[in-house]
Order: sequence, then structure tokens, then C-alpha cells
Amino acid sequence: MADEIVIGSHADENDVYRFGKDLDIILLEFEDINISALKKLKQEGKTIICDPNELEIIQDKGKQKMLYKEHAIPTADFFLADDQKEIRKKNVPLPFVLKKRTQGYDGGGVKKINTLHDLSSAWDAPSVGEECIDIKKEYSLIVGRDQSGNTFRYPVVEQHFHNNAHLVHFLVAPIELKQQIQTQIDTIGDQVLNAFSTTGMWAIELFLDADEKVLVNEIAPRVHNSGHHTIEGSATSQFSQFIRLALGLPHGSTKTLTPTVTMNILGPEGKSGAYQAEGLSEVLKTEGIFLHLYGKKTTRPFRKLGHITTTGETTDDCWKKIRSAQQSLQIVVE
Ligand code: ADP
Repeated sequence: MADEIVIGSHADENDVYRFGKDLDIILLEFEDINISALKKLKQEGKTIICDPNELEIIQDKGKQKMLYKEHAIPTADFFLADDQKEIRKKNVPLPFVLKKRTQGYDGGGVKKINTLHDLSSAWDAPSVGEECIDIKKEYSLIVGRDQSGNTFRYPVVEQHFHNNAHLVHFLVAPIELKQQIQTQIDTIGDQVLNAFSTTGMWAIELFLDADEKVLVNEIAPRVHNSGHHTIEGSATSQFSQFIRLALGLPHGSTKTLTPTVTMNILGPEGKSGAYQAEGLSEVLKTEGIFLHLYGKKTTRPFRKLGHITTTGETTDDCWKKIRSAQQSLQIVVE
């Protein structure tokens, strides 16, 4: 659909610079992009969202954790280590959650370490080790700031994670929260907007622990999986919002228009290759079902191939529709 396509590596300085050099505004929709090139483009006067200096922090889960500490943002206790040898020397109590500092997305760089044997079979790269949280719920809060400095936030979303894949399977919005939980989340929203002072949008992934304390897991400075329901469910979708920020327009209303449940369509476990999405006519029969297929040619285990959002009178209604869509839809690997 684009007017122009530039082919290159997002990690390569020359390629990223070549991509941006004739543009006025650059929006980033994932984090792993060469920072030197982005900084050079910023120096040349391009508007880049998210700001490259902030992206540099977010690209590195270690730097993110240090930022939280600096701003007193609640997060799981952690340690940093350059390699396995350093982790062993630290003698940290087991279990803990090991995360690659860079380049680990969608659960790919996260591993629960129950034993030293688990550690041996993990990567040997700079990592963050985190206290293992007894997670009761996972939420997401999307906040942002437009070019005039006005801030906004979407209502909190509940994320249901896939049992085996460490990635989001379902989203529910809106949700009802106890006042004391909502208050903690509101404070975190303020703190994050304070920590990131530029124009942008930040999806804050949150844990609720067994003591009903809210902790920040990580932040994505962009449109996010946890905002997909805003396309049908909110007065302004996260995508229009991002474009408004880029163009210097006022941010739009984040009001909820209807209950939604969203399901990520994931590639089947253990299978890779070309695929067909079958059962679509059955899925599409129901009112209030919105199918988004991303047009990816091949699947991998748990690859995000699309999503379905359901709208309805109540959240229960939406769940019924999504469960029936889940039954009908088959990803068949050729
Ligand atoms: P990614 O960047 O790959 O999305 P995350 O850091 O969000 O990785 O972790 C993926 C999932 O792993 C989380 O959503 C959560 O379910 C689980 N997880 C991450 N950190 C912890 C932790 N400290 N304690 C318990 N579970 C965790």
C-alpha cells in the first residue's frame, strides 16, 4: 500500500539513514532499529517518534530497569549481568526470570530459571535477572503526549497470556478495577509521562502481584498489540492517534465506545511454512466480529498472523463470540 518501499536492514546504520534522509517525519513501530542513524536523522531536523534518545533506553531492558529505579517506578527487583559466569558468581537465589537485555521480543528472550541446569541451556549474553513475580493479572496502559504537550491515556486493558508462548493471546477492554489498583496505575501513568518528556505514545505493560501491588514489566514506545481493540472499541484508534502526534494535530478522544475482546491469531505450535486460514466464512457470519489478517506469507510456532476483535453489549457477549471464532478458525500449514 506504500508509495515507496526501501529494502534494507533495520539494524544497519547506512540502510536506516538511507530510509530516512528524504523524509520529514518518521514513526517507528518496533524498537530494534539502528540508533546512530536515527540520531543523525534527528540532528538533521527530522521529527522522529519515539525520540532516539528514549529509544536507546527502551531497546535495552537493563537501561529500562535503571530508568524505572531512577524515577521510583515500581518494578520487579532485578540484577544485571554480562554473561552466565557473572550470574553464577552473584549466587542469586532461584528461581528468577532471565531476560536478554537486547533483541528479545515476544517471549523469545525470556526464560524462567528454576535450576542451574536451566541457566546452562539459556543464552550467554548481557541479561537482566528479575525476581519471579507471582502474577495475578497482566494489564496494559497506553499513555501519550501530542506536540502541544497535552497528554492522554486510554482505559486500562487486561492481557491474557498464552500458556506456552509467553505472549499475549487475548485482550479485554474496558475492565473494572478496584479503586486502589486503578490509583496505582494512574500514578504509574504520571510517572512514565514524567520520565519520557517528548511527543510520543507509550504502552506500559503491568503485572498485578499476589499482594495486589502493580509493577511495570516493560514499556513499548509505539502502537502496541495491547491497543489493537481501539480500532473498533475507542473514539480514536491508537493508529490514528499516532498519526495525529506525528502531524502536530491535537490528540483524539480515548473514550471507550463498546466492550471488546480481542484474540491474536497465532501460528500453530511446532509448525512452520506456508499456511491457509480456514473457516473464515463461519467466523464472519456473526455480527460484531472484526477480522484483521496481516498478510504474512509464512507461519512459525506462535507467530502473530492477525487478530480478531469482537464487540458486543457486554464483555461476556464478546467472549462468547471470540470463543466461537476461535473454534471455527483453523490455521492449516501446507
Ligand atoms: P517480551 O519483551 O518478550 O514481551 P516480557 O518481558 O514482556 O518479554 O515477558 C514476557 C512474559 O513473561 C510476561 O508477559 C510475563 O507473563 C512473563 N514474565 C516476565 N517477567 C516476569 C517476572 N519477573 N516474573 C514472572 N513472570 C514474568
